Amino acid sequence: MQNLLDEAIRYALLYIHEGKTASYIPELGKIDPNQLGVAIVNLEGSQWHSGAYNIAFTMQSISKIAALMLAIMDRGEQYVFNKVGMEPTGDPFNSIIKLETMKTAKPLNPMINAGAIAVDSLILGVNTEDKLSRLISFIRKLCHNDKIWFNEEVYKSENATGYRNRALGNFMKDAGIIEGEVEEVLQLYFKQCAIEVNAIDLAMMGAVLAGDGKSPVTGELLIPKGVARLVKTFMVTCGMYDASGEFAVRVGLPSKSGVGGGIVATVPGKMGIGIFGPALDNKGNSAGGIKILEYISSKLDLSIF
Ligand code: GLU
Repeated sequence: MQNLLDEAIRYALLYIHEGKTASYIPELGKIDPNQLGVAIVNLEGSQWHSGAYNIAFTMQSISKIAALMLAIMDRGEQYVFNKVGMEPTGDPFNSIIKLETMKTAKPLNPMINAGAIAVDSLILGVNTEDKLSRLISFIRKLCHNDKIWFNEEVYKSENATGYRNRALGNFMKDAGIIEGEVEEVLQLYFKQCAIEVNAIDLAMMGAVLAGDGKSPVTGELLIPKGVARLVKTFMVTCGMYDASGEFAVRVGLPSKSGVGGGIVATVPGKMGIGIFGPALDNKGNSAGGIKILEYISSKLDLSIF
Protein backbone atom coordinates (compact mmCIF):
# COMPACT_ATOMS: atom_id res chain seq x y z
CA MET A 1 0.00 0.00 0.00
CA GLN A 2 2.81 2.42 0.92
CA ASN A 3 4.50 1.92 -2.46
CA LEU A 4 1.21 2.40 -4.24
CA LEU A 5 0.60 5.75 -2.51
CA ASP A 6 4.15 6.95 -3.23
CA GLU A 7 3.72 5.98 -6.89
CA ALA A 8 0.30 7.66 -7.07
CA ILE A 9 1.82 10.92 -5.80
CA ARG A 10 4.72 10.75 -8.27
CA TYR A 11 2.29 10.12 -11.13
CA ALA A 12 -0.18 12.84 -10.11
CA LEU A 13 2.54 15.47 -9.59
CA LEU A 14 2.97 15.46 -13.36
CA TYR A 15 -0.52 16.97 -13.69
CA ILE A 16 -0.68 19.68 -11.07
CA HIS A 17 0.74 22.39 -13.33
CA GLU A 18 -2.63 22.18 -15.14
CA GLY A 19 -4.36 23.56 -12.03
CA LYS A 20 -4.59 26.85 -10.09
CA THR A 21 -5.53 27.69 -6.50
CA ALA A 22 -9.00 29.17 -5.86
CA SER A 23 -8.14 32.86 -5.97
CA TYR A 24 -11.81 34.00 -5.86
CA ILE A 25 -11.37 33.57 -2.08
CA PRO A 26 -8.23 35.76 -1.80
CA GLU A 27 -6.76 33.88 1.18
CA LEU A 28 -6.91 30.55 -0.73
CA GLY A 29 -5.01 32.14 -3.62
CA LYS A 30 -1.95 32.43 -1.33
CA ILE A 31 -1.57 28.66 -0.84
CA ASP A 32 1.40 26.85 -2.49
CA PRO A 33 -0.18 25.00 -5.45
CA ASN A 34 2.63 22.42 -5.63
CA GLN A 35 1.57 20.47 -2.55
CA LEU A 36 0.03 17.04 -2.94
CA GLY A 37 -0.81 14.50 -0.26
CA VAL A 38 -2.86 11.36 0.25
CA ALA A 39 -3.94 9.22 3.21
CA ILE A 40 -5.85 5.96 3.49
CA VAL A 41 -7.62 4.52 6.54
CA ASN A 42 -9.09 1.03 6.26
CA LEU A 43 -12.02 -0.39 8.23
CA GLU A 44 -9.68 -1.84 10.86
CA GLY A 45 -8.32 1.66 11.48
CA SER A 46 -4.88 1.05 9.86
CA GLN A 47 -3.39 4.09 8.12
CA TRP A 48 -1.03 4.80 5.23
CA HIS A 49 -0.01 8.16 3.83
CA SER A 50 2.32 9.93 1.43
CA GLY A 51 3.33 13.46 0.43
CA ALA A 52 1.69 16.50 2.07
CA TYR A 53 -0.70 14.35 4.11
CA ASN A 54 -0.35 16.31 7.35
CA ILE A 55 -0.80 19.85 6.00
CA ALA A 56 -3.95 21.61 7.28
CA PHE A 57 -6.31 23.07 4.69
CA THR A 58 -9.91 24.28 4.71
CA MET A 59 -12.71 21.83 3.98
CA GLN A 60 -14.77 24.27 1.88
CA SER A 61 -17.46 22.21 0.09
CA ILE A 62 -16.46 18.98 1.82
CA SER A 63 -18.12 20.44 4.93
CA LYS A 64 -21.42 20.22 3.04
CA ILE A 65 -21.64 16.46 3.53
CA ALA A 66 -21.21 16.82 7.30
CA ALA A 67 -23.78 19.65 7.45
CA LEU A 68 -26.24 17.54 5.46
CA MET A 69 -25.83 14.54 7.76
CA LEU A 70 -26.28 16.72 10.85
CA ALA A 71 -29.37 18.46 9.43
CA ILE A 72 -30.96 15.10 8.60
CA MET A 73 -30.15 13.75 12.05
CA ASP A 74 -31.63 16.97 13.55
CA ARG A 75 -34.75 17.36 11.42
CA GLY A 76 -35.39 14.08 9.61
CA GLU A 77 -35.08 13.29 5.93
CA GLN A 78 -38.52 14.45 4.91
CA TYR A 79 -38.16 17.92 6.42
CA VAL A 80 -34.73 18.49 4.86
CA PHE A 81 -35.78 17.35 1.38
CA ASN A 82 -38.76 19.64 1.50
CA LYS A 83 -36.24 22.50 1.29
CA VAL A 84 -33.61 21.02 -1.03
CA GLY A 85 -33.79 18.62 -3.97
CA MET A 86 -31.96 15.41 -4.89
CA GLU A 87 -31.02 16.05 -8.52
CA PRO A 88 -27.57 16.73 -9.95
CA THR A 89 -27.06 19.92 -11.94
CA GLY A 90 -24.82 20.48 -14.92
CA ASP A 91 -24.14 24.00 -13.64
CA PRO A 92 -21.14 25.20 -11.60
CA PHE A 93 -21.27 24.90 -7.78
CA ASN A 94 -22.04 28.58 -7.21
CA SER A 95 -24.57 29.03 -10.01
CA ILE A 96 -27.70 31.06 -9.36
CA ILE A 97 -29.56 30.42 -12.62
CA LYS A 98 -31.68 27.40 -11.67
CA LEU A 99 -33.12 29.09 -8.57
CA GLU A 100 -35.13 31.44 -10.73
CA THR A 101 -35.78 29.33 -13.81
CA MET A 102 -37.08 26.19 -12.09
CA LYS A 103 -40.75 25.99 -10.99
CA THR A 104 -39.81 26.32 -7.31
CA ALA A 105 -36.80 28.14 -5.90
CA LYS A 106 -35.84 24.95 -4.06
CA PRO A 107 -32.11 24.39 -4.78
CA LEU A 108 -31.48 21.26 -6.85
CA ASN A 109 -29.26 19.42 -4.36
CA PRO A 110 -27.38 19.89 -1.04
CA MET A 111 -23.90 19.84 -2.65
CA ILE A 112 -24.19 23.10 -4.59
CA ASN A 113 -23.75 26.31 -2.61
CA ALA A 114 -27.46 27.25 -2.71
CA GLY A 115 -28.44 23.81 -1.39
CA ALA A 116 -25.79 23.86 1.31
CA ILE A 117 -26.87 27.31 2.51
CA ALA A 118 -30.48 26.07 2.68
CA VAL A 119 -29.33 22.98 4.63
CA ASP A 120 -27.38 25.15 7.08
CA SER A 121 -30.57 27.03 7.94
CA LEU A 122 -31.97 23.70 9.24
CA ILE A 123 -29.19 22.79 11.69
CA LEU A 124 -30.45 23.06 15.27
CA GLY A 125 -28.87 25.36 17.88
CA VAL A 126 -29.80 28.38 20.02
CA ASN A 127 -27.64 30.71 17.91
CA THR A 128 -25.04 30.63 15.11
CA GLU A 129 -22.20 29.92 17.55
CA ASP A 130 -24.07 26.96 19.00
CA LYS A 131 -24.89 25.58 15.53
CA LEU A 132 -21.25 25.93 14.46
CA SER A 133 -20.01 24.25 17.61
CA ARG A 134 -22.44 21.34 17.10
CA LEU A 135 -21.22 20.98 13.51
CA ILE A 136 -17.54 21.14 14.53
CA SER A 137 -18.10 18.49 17.26
CA PHE A 138 -19.73 16.25 14.68
CA ILE A 139 -16.84 16.73 12.24
CA ARG A 140 -14.34 16.02 15.06
CA LYS A 141 -16.12 12.73 15.71
CA LEU A 142 -16.15 11.73 12.04
CA CYS A 143 -12.46 12.63 11.63
CA HIS A 144 -11.44 11.23 15.05
CA ASN A 145 -9.61 14.48 15.76
CA ASP A 146 -10.53 16.68 18.75
CA LYS A 147 -8.35 19.58 17.61
CA ILE A 148 -10.36 20.52 14.52
CA TRP A 149 -11.31 24.22 14.36
CA PHE A 150 -11.87 26.83 11.66
CA ASN A 151 -9.29 29.11 10.02
CA GLU A 152 -10.10 32.70 10.98
CA GLU A 153 -8.22 34.28 8.03
CA VAL A 154 -9.95 32.14 5.40
CA TYR A 155 -13.33 32.78 7.03
CA LYS A 156 -12.72 36.55 7.04
CA SER A 157 -11.55 36.45 3.44
CA GLU A 158 -14.70 34.68 2.26
CA ASN A 159 -16.95 36.79 4.49
CA ALA A 160 -15.49 39.93 2.91
CA THR A 161 -15.91 38.73 -0.67
CA GLY A 162 -18.86 36.31 -0.62
CA TYR A 163 -21.25 38.45 -2.66
CA ARG A 164 -22.50 35.58 -4.77
CA ASN A 165 -23.28 33.38 -1.77
CA ARG A 166 -25.09 36.36 -0.21
CA ALA A 167 -27.11 36.68 -3.41
CA LEU A 168 -28.05 32.98 -3.26
CA GLY A 169 -29.06 33.34 0.40
CA ASN A 170 -31.14 36.45 -0.18
CA PHE A 171 -32.89 34.95 -3.18
CA MET A 172 -33.83 31.84 -1.20
CA LYS A 173 -34.99 33.93 1.77
CA ASP A 174 -37.31 35.83 -0.53
CA ALA A 175 -38.62 32.52 -1.90
CA GLY A 176 -39.30 31.13 1.60
CA ILE A 177 -36.62 28.41 1.46
CA ILE A 178 -34.26 29.80 4.10
CA GLU A 179 -35.34 29.64 7.73
CA GLY A 180 -34.13 32.42 10.06
CA GLU A 181 -31.92 35.41 9.31
CA VAL A 182 -29.97 35.08 6.03
CA GLU A 183 -26.85 36.80 7.33
CA GLU A 184 -26.68 34.41 10.31
CA VAL A 185 -27.03 31.40 8.04
CA LEU A 186 -24.27 32.80 5.80
CA GLN A 187 -21.97 33.30 8.78
CA LEU A 188 -22.44 29.62 9.67
CA TYR A 189 -21.78 28.67 6.03
CA PHE A 190 -18.59 30.76 5.70
CA LYS A 191 -17.21 29.46 9.02
CA GLN A 192 -17.99 25.84 8.22
CA CYS A 193 -16.24 26.18 4.84
CA ALA A 194 -13.15 27.43 6.72
CA ILE A 195 -12.96 24.38 9.03
CA GLU A 196 -9.42 22.99 8.80
CA VAL A 197 -8.52 19.34 8.33
CA ASN A 198 -5.69 17.30 6.82
CA ALA A 199 -5.71 14.29 4.48
CA ILE A 200 -5.75 11.81 7.40
CA ASP A 201 -8.85 13.50 8.88
CA LEU A 202 -10.61 13.12 5.52
CA ALA A 203 -9.50 9.49 5.16
CA MET A 204 -11.03 8.80 8.60
CA MET A 205 -14.28 10.46 7.55
CA GLY A 206 -14.26 8.40 4.34
CA ALA A 207 -13.66 5.23 6.37
CA VAL A 208 -16.68 5.99 8.61
CA LEU A 209 -18.83 6.27 5.48
CA ALA A 210 -17.22 3.12 4.03
CA GLY A 211 -18.26 1.25 7.19
CA ASP A 212 -21.90 2.41 6.94
CA GLY A 213 -21.45 4.94 9.73
CA LYS A 214 -19.25 2.90 12.09
CA SER A 215 -16.00 4.24 13.55
CA PRO A 216 -13.06 2.22 12.17
CA VAL A 217 -11.30 2.88 15.48
CA THR A 218 -13.90 2.18 18.19
CA GLY A 219 -16.65 0.37 16.28
CA GLU A 220 -19.18 2.91 17.61
CA LEU A 221 -22.03 3.84 15.27
CA LEU A 222 -21.46 7.57 14.54
CA ILE A 223 -24.12 8.02 11.83
CA PRO A 224 -27.20 5.88 11.14
CA LYS A 225 -26.60 3.53 8.20
CA GLY A 226 -29.40 5.13 6.16
CA VAL A 227 -27.83 8.60 6.51
CA ALA A 228 -24.41 7.23 5.45
CA ARG A 229 -26.04 5.59 2.42
CA LEU A 230 -27.85 8.78 1.47
CA VAL A 231 -24.77 10.99 1.67
CA LYS A 232 -22.68 8.50 -0.36
CA THR A 233 -25.33 8.60 -3.07
CA PHE A 234 -25.10 12.39 -3.25
CA MET A 235 -21.31 12.08 -3.38
CA VAL A 236 -21.66 9.91 -6.50
CA THR A 237 -24.23 12.08 -8.26
CA CYS A 238 -23.05 15.58 -7.26
CA GLY A 239 -19.86 15.34 -5.16
CA MET A 240 -17.41 16.50 -7.83
CA TYR A 241 -19.41 19.51 -9.04
CA ASP A 242 -20.33 19.40 -12.73
CA ALA A 243 -17.57 16.85 -13.36
CA SER A 244 -19.34 14.15 -11.29
CA GLY A 245 -20.31 12.11 -14.38
CA GLU A 246 -16.81 11.88 -15.82
CA PHE A 247 -15.37 11.20 -12.36
CA ALA A 248 -17.85 8.31 -11.85
CA VAL A 249 -16.65 6.78 -15.11
CA ARG A 250 -12.92 7.27 -14.47
CA VAL A 251 -12.73 6.65 -10.69
CA GLY A 252 -16.09 5.21 -9.64
CA LEU A 253 -15.97 6.12 -5.94
CA PRO A 254 -18.37 8.27 -3.87
CA SER A 255 -16.28 11.43 -3.34
CA LYS A 256 -16.64 15.07 -2.35
CA SER A 257 -14.21 17.82 -3.23
CA GLY A 258 -13.71 21.35 -1.95
CA VAL A 259 -12.01 24.42 -3.43
CA GLY A 260 -9.44 24.26 -0.60
CA GLY A 261 -7.96 21.34 -2.59
CA GLY A 262 -9.35 18.49 -0.50
CA ILE A 263 -11.20 15.39 -1.66
CA VAL A 264 -12.76 12.75 0.58
CA ALA A 265 -13.42 9.44 -1.15
CA THR A 266 -15.02 6.34 0.27
CA VAL A 267 -14.64 2.74 -0.84
CA PRO A 268 -17.69 0.96 0.60
CA GLY A 269 -16.77 -1.93 2.90
CA LYS A 270 -13.05 -1.22 2.47
CA MET A 271 -11.49 2.17 3.22
CA GLY A 272 -11.55 5.96 3.22
CA ILE A 273 -9.17 8.07 1.13
CA GLY A 274 -8.23 11.68 1.95
CA ILE A 275 -6.50 13.96 -0.55
CA PHE A 276 -4.91 17.41 -0.42
CA GLY A 277 -3.86 19.15 -3.64
CA PRO A 278 -4.77 22.85 -3.87
CA ALA A 279 -4.12 23.28 -7.62
CA LEU A 280 -7.68 23.04 -9.01
CA ASP A 281 -8.87 22.19 -12.50
CA ASN A 282 -11.42 24.38 -14.31
CA LYS A 283 -14.35 22.67 -12.53
CA GLY A 284 -12.92 23.42 -9.06
CA ASN A 285 -11.62 19.90 -8.32
CA SER A 286 -8.06 19.14 -7.20
CA ALA A 287 -6.19 18.46 -10.46
CA GLY A 288 -3.60 16.19 -8.81
CA GLY A 289 -6.19 14.71 -6.46
CA ILE A 290 -8.26 13.36 -9.31
CA LYS A 291 -5.16 11.76 -10.82
CA ILE A 292 -4.27 10.13 -7.47
CA LEU A 293 -7.76 8.66 -7.21
CA GLU A 294 -7.71 7.45 -10.82
CA TYR A 295 -4.39 5.74 -10.14
CA ILE A 296 -5.39 4.07 -6.86
CA SER A 297 -8.84 3.07 -8.11
CA SER A 298 -7.49 1.42 -11.23
CA LYS A 299 -4.53 -0.33 -9.53
CA LEU A 300 -6.71 -1.75 -6.74
CA ASP A 301 -9.82 -2.17 -8.92
CA LEU A 302 -11.95 -0.14 -6.50
CA SER A 303 -14.73 1.29 -8.71
CA ILE A 304 -18.15 0.51 -7.24
CA PHE A 305 -19.61 0.16 -10.72
N1 GLU B 1 -16.67 28.44 0.41
C1 GLU B 1 -16.74 28.10 -0.97
C2 GLU B 1 -17.83 28.90 -1.68
O1 GLU B 1 -18.89 29.02 -1.17
C3 GLU B 1 -16.98 26.65 -1.09
C4 GLU B 1 -17.03 26.21 -2.50
C5 GLU B 1 -16.49 24.88 -2.75
O2 GLU B 1 -15.62 24.33 -2.08
O3 GLU B 1 -17.00 24.32 -3.71
O4 GLU B 1 -17.63 29.43 -2.73
